[in-house]
Amino acid sequence: MNSHWPTPFTDPTRGTAWSPERIDRELELLRQLQFFKYTTHSFVGDLLQVFGTISVTETVSGRVQSLYIRMEYPSSYPRSVPQVFDHEKVFTPSTAGHQFSNHRLCLSFPLREEFTLDSDGLSTEILGASLIWLDKRSIFERTTKWPGDAEDHSWTGPLRDLLREEVKKDRNPWIGAWTDWIIAELIVPNYRGRCPCQSGRVFALCHARLLNLASEYLLHSIHERELYERRPTVKAA
Ligand SMILES: [Zn+2]
Repeated sequence: MNSHWPTPFTDPTRGTAWSPERIDRELELLRQLQFFKYTTHSFVGDLLQVFGTISVTETVSGRVQSLYIRMEYPSSYPRSVPQVFDHEKVFTPSTAGHQFSNHRLCLSFPLREEFTLDSDGLSTEILGASLIWLDKRSIFERTTKWPGDAEDHSWTGPLRDLLREEVKKDRNPWIGAWTDWIIAELIVPNYRGRCPCQSGRVFALCHARLLNLASEYLLHSIHERELYERRPTVKAA
Protein backbone atom coordinates (compact mmCIF):
# COMPACT_ATOMS: atom_id res chain seq x y z
CA MET A 1 0.00 0.00 0.00
CA ASN A 2 1.15 3.51 -0.74
CA SER A 3 2.42 5.18 2.43
CA HIS A 4 1.13 8.57 1.27
CA TRP A 5 -2.49 9.53 1.53
CA PRO A 6 -4.10 12.31 -0.48
CA THR A 7 -4.08 15.44 1.66
CA PRO A 8 -3.72 19.13 0.92
CA PHE A 9 -0.10 18.58 1.98
CA THR A 10 0.83 15.77 -0.36
CA ASP A 11 -1.37 16.72 -3.28
CA PRO A 12 -1.60 20.52 -3.50
CA THR A 13 -2.25 20.39 -7.26
CA ARG A 14 -5.85 19.40 -6.62
CA GLY A 15 -6.87 22.87 -5.45
CA THR A 16 -8.35 25.59 -7.67
CA ALA A 17 -6.01 27.94 -9.55
CA TRP A 18 -7.79 31.31 -9.44
CA SER A 19 -7.26 32.64 -12.94
CA PRO A 20 -9.25 35.80 -13.83
CA GLU A 21 -11.66 33.61 -15.85
CA ARG A 22 -12.10 31.15 -13.01
CA ILE A 23 -12.79 34.01 -10.54
CA ASP A 24 -15.39 35.49 -12.92
CA ARG A 25 -17.11 32.13 -13.21
CA GLU A 26 -17.15 31.72 -9.43
CA LEU A 27 -18.56 35.21 -8.81
CA GLU A 28 -21.17 34.64 -11.53
CA LEU A 29 -22.33 31.51 -9.66
CA LEU A 30 -22.60 33.49 -6.43
CA ARG A 31 -24.42 36.40 -8.08
CA GLN A 32 -27.15 34.02 -9.25
CA LEU A 33 -28.15 33.35 -5.65
CA GLN A 34 -31.27 35.27 -4.61
CA PHE A 35 -30.29 35.30 -0.95
CA PHE A 36 -26.71 36.50 -1.36
CA LYS A 37 -25.60 40.00 -2.28
CA TYR A 38 -21.97 40.08 -3.38
CA THR A 39 -19.95 43.08 -2.18
CA THR A 40 -16.31 42.41 -2.98
CA HIS A 41 -13.53 39.83 -2.99
CA SER A 42 -9.84 39.79 -2.17
CA PHE A 43 -6.87 37.49 -1.83
CA VAL A 44 -4.82 36.56 1.21
CA GLY A 45 -1.75 35.12 -0.49
CA ASP A 46 -3.39 32.95 -3.14
CA LEU A 47 -6.46 32.20 -1.01
CA LEU A 48 -9.72 33.71 -2.25
CA GLN A 49 -12.06 35.52 0.13
CA VAL A 50 -15.54 36.67 -0.87
CA PHE A 51 -17.56 39.27 1.04
CA GLY A 52 -21.29 39.84 0.90
CA THR A 53 -24.63 39.75 2.70
CA ILE A 54 -26.92 36.78 3.17
CA SER A 55 -30.60 37.53 3.88
CA VAL A 56 -33.43 35.32 5.02
CA THR A 57 -37.10 36.21 5.57
CA GLU A 58 -38.57 34.75 8.75
CA THR A 59 -41.65 32.73 7.87
CA VAL A 60 -43.81 33.87 10.81
CA SER A 61 -42.92 37.55 11.27
CA GLY A 62 -41.87 38.30 7.69
CA ARG A 63 -38.89 40.11 9.18
CA VAL A 64 -35.69 40.04 7.12
CA GLN A 65 -32.52 38.85 8.85
CA SER A 66 -29.24 39.80 7.20
CA LEU A 67 -25.63 39.01 7.96
CA TYR A 68 -22.49 40.37 6.36
CA ILE A 69 -20.19 37.41 5.85
CA ARG A 70 -16.69 36.56 4.68
CA MET A 71 -16.25 33.24 2.88
CA GLU A 72 -12.70 31.89 2.87
CA TYR A 73 -11.83 29.31 0.21
CA PRO A 74 -9.27 26.68 1.26
CA SER A 75 -6.27 26.02 -0.98
CA SER A 76 -7.69 22.58 -1.68
CA TYR A 77 -11.07 23.96 -2.85
CA PRO A 78 -13.36 22.23 -3.90
CA ARG A 79 -11.85 19.15 -2.26
CA SER A 80 -12.64 20.74 1.10
CA VAL A 81 -15.24 23.24 2.20
CA PRO A 82 -14.90 27.04 2.44
CA GLN A 83 -15.24 28.59 5.88
CA VAL A 84 -17.79 31.31 6.56
CA PHE A 85 -17.32 34.06 9.14
CA ASP A 86 -19.64 36.58 10.78
CA HIS A 87 -17.36 39.31 9.45
CA GLU A 88 -18.69 42.20 11.56
CA LYS A 89 -18.79 40.03 14.71
CA VAL A 90 -22.50 40.64 15.21
CA PHE A 91 -23.07 37.44 17.15
CA THR A 92 -21.34 36.28 20.33
CA PRO A 93 -19.49 33.02 19.72
CA SER A 94 -20.58 30.02 21.78
CA THR A 95 -20.86 26.26 21.40
CA ALA A 96 -24.63 26.38 21.98
CA GLY A 97 -24.90 29.12 19.35
CA HIS A 98 -22.89 27.03 16.85
CA GLN A 99 -20.18 29.60 16.38
CA PHE A 100 -16.44 29.23 16.91
CA SER A 101 -14.44 31.74 18.94
CA ASN A 102 -13.00 33.26 15.74
CA HIS A 103 -16.59 34.08 14.64
CA ARG A 104 -16.70 31.26 12.11
CA LEU A 105 -20.15 29.73 11.62
CA CYS A 106 -20.31 26.06 12.55
CA LEU A 107 -21.67 24.53 9.35
CA SER A 108 -19.87 21.22 9.26
CA PHE A 109 -21.91 18.30 10.44
CA PRO A 110 -19.65 15.54 9.11
CA LEU A 111 -21.95 12.76 10.24
CA ARG A 112 -24.61 14.03 7.84
CA GLU A 113 -22.20 14.38 4.90
CA GLU A 114 -24.10 17.43 3.74
CA PHE A 115 -21.79 18.96 1.21
CA THR A 116 -20.84 17.86 -2.29
CA LEU A 117 -17.05 17.94 -2.41
CA ASP A 118 -15.24 18.16 -5.76
CA SER A 119 -18.11 20.14 -7.22
CA ASP A 120 -18.14 23.71 -8.56
CA GLY A 121 -21.38 24.27 -6.69
CA LEU A 122 -19.75 23.68 -3.31
CA SER A 123 -19.49 27.40 -2.44
CA THR A 124 -23.20 27.97 -3.20
CA GLU A 125 -24.08 24.95 -1.02
CA ILE A 126 -22.02 26.49 1.77
CA LEU A 127 -23.83 29.82 1.41
CA GLY A 128 -27.15 27.93 1.51
CA ALA A 129 -26.03 26.25 4.74
CA SER A 130 -25.01 29.69 6.05
CA LEU A 131 -28.52 30.94 5.36
CA ILE A 132 -30.02 28.03 7.32
CA TRP A 133 -27.51 28.80 10.07
CA LEU A 134 -28.64 32.46 10.15
CA ASP A 135 -32.29 31.44 10.36
CA LYS A 136 -31.54 29.09 13.26
CA ARG A 137 -29.23 31.56 14.93
CA SER A 138 -31.93 34.25 15.00
CA ILE A 139 -34.23 31.75 16.74
CA PHE A 140 -31.38 30.93 19.13
CA GLU A 141 -30.97 34.66 19.91
CA ARG A 142 -34.61 34.81 21.06
CA THR A 143 -34.93 31.44 22.80
CA THR A 144 -31.31 30.53 23.74
CA LYS A 145 -32.07 27.08 22.26
CA TRP A 146 -30.67 25.91 18.94
CA PRO A 147 -33.63 24.67 16.87
CA GLY A 148 -33.64 21.02 15.80
CA ASP A 149 -31.89 18.16 17.53
CA ALA A 150 -30.19 16.47 14.58
CA GLU A 151 -27.39 19.03 14.62
CA ASP A 152 -26.63 18.46 18.29
CA HIS A 153 -22.91 18.22 18.93
CA SER A 154 -23.31 15.22 21.15
CA TRP A 155 -20.52 13.17 22.57
CA THR A 156 -17.88 13.70 19.90
CA GLY A 157 -18.07 17.43 20.75
CA PRO A 158 -15.80 17.38 23.81
CA LEU A 159 -13.22 15.25 21.96
CA ARG A 160 -13.19 17.61 19.03
CA ASP A 161 -12.83 20.60 21.38
CA LEU A 162 -9.97 18.85 23.18
CA LEU A 163 -8.24 18.21 19.86
CA ARG A 164 -8.63 21.86 18.88
CA GLU A 165 -7.34 23.03 22.29
CA GLU A 166 -4.24 20.86 21.89
CA VAL A 167 -3.68 22.22 18.40
CA LYS A 168 -3.97 25.80 19.65
CA LYS A 169 -1.17 25.14 22.17
CA ASP A 170 0.99 23.78 19.37
CA ARG A 171 0.82 26.99 17.25
CA ASN A 172 1.90 25.08 14.14
CA PRO A 173 -0.29 26.24 11.20
CA TRP A 174 0.23 22.98 9.30
CA ILE A 175 -1.07 20.99 12.25
CA GLY A 176 -4.01 23.40 12.53
CA ALA A 177 -4.91 22.90 8.89
CA TRP A 178 -4.45 19.16 9.20
CA THR A 179 -6.82 19.03 12.17
CA ASP A 180 -9.53 21.02 10.36
CA TRP A 181 -9.14 18.65 7.45
CA ILE A 182 -9.47 15.58 9.69
CA ILE A 183 -12.56 17.02 11.35
CA ALA A 184 -14.18 18.01 8.06
CA GLU A 185 -13.42 14.88 6.08
CA LEU A 186 -13.33 12.11 8.68
CA ILE A 187 -10.29 10.42 7.18
CA VAL A 188 -8.19 8.17 9.39
CA PRO A 189 -4.58 9.40 9.45
CA ASN A 190 -1.67 7.16 8.51
CA TYR A 191 0.52 6.39 11.53
CA ARG A 192 3.56 5.71 9.38
CA GLY A 193 3.16 8.71 7.07
CA ARG A 194 5.11 11.98 7.33
CA CYS A 195 3.97 14.28 10.12
CA PRO A 196 1.94 17.19 8.69
CA CYS A 197 3.93 19.62 10.91
CA GLN A 198 6.62 19.56 8.16
CA SER A 199 9.33 18.29 10.53
CA GLY A 200 10.05 15.46 8.10
CA ARG A 201 9.65 12.90 10.87
CA VAL A 202 7.25 9.96 10.90
CA PHE A 203 3.86 10.94 12.32
CA ALA A 204 3.82 8.30 15.06
CA LEU A 205 7.20 9.51 16.34
CA CYS A 206 6.39 13.22 16.09
CA HIS A 207 2.87 14.49 16.82
CA ALA A 208 1.75 11.10 18.10
CA ARG A 209 -0.26 12.77 20.87
CA LEU A 210 -2.43 14.62 18.33
CA LEU A 211 -2.60 11.57 16.12
CA ASN A 212 -4.09 9.55 18.99
CA LEU A 213 -6.62 12.25 19.81
CA ALA A 214 -7.62 12.56 16.14
CA SER A 215 -8.04 8.79 15.81
CA GLU A 216 -10.20 8.68 18.90
CA TYR A 217 -12.35 11.51 17.55
CA LEU A 218 -12.74 9.70 14.23
CA LEU A 219 -13.71 6.39 15.84
CA HIS A 220 -16.35 8.13 17.94
CA SER A 221 -17.64 10.13 14.96
CA ILE A 222 -18.07 6.99 12.91
CA HIS A 223 -19.86 5.27 15.79
CA GLU A 224 -22.04 8.35 16.26
CA ARG A 225 -22.91 8.34 12.59
CA GLU A 226 -24.07 4.73 12.90
CA LEU A 227 -26.23 5.67 15.87
CA TYR A 228 -27.61 8.62 13.93
CA GLU A 229 -28.52 6.49 10.95
CA ARG A 230 -30.24 3.92 13.14
CA ARG A 231 -32.21 6.40 15.24
CA PRO A 232 -36.01 6.23 14.93
CA THR A 233 -37.42 8.85 12.57
CA VAL A 234 -39.47 11.52 14.28
CA LYS A 235 -42.48 12.51 12.21
CA ALA A 236 -43.31 16.20 11.98
CA ALA A 237 -46.63 17.09 13.61
ZN1 LIG B 1 5.09 16.68 13.95
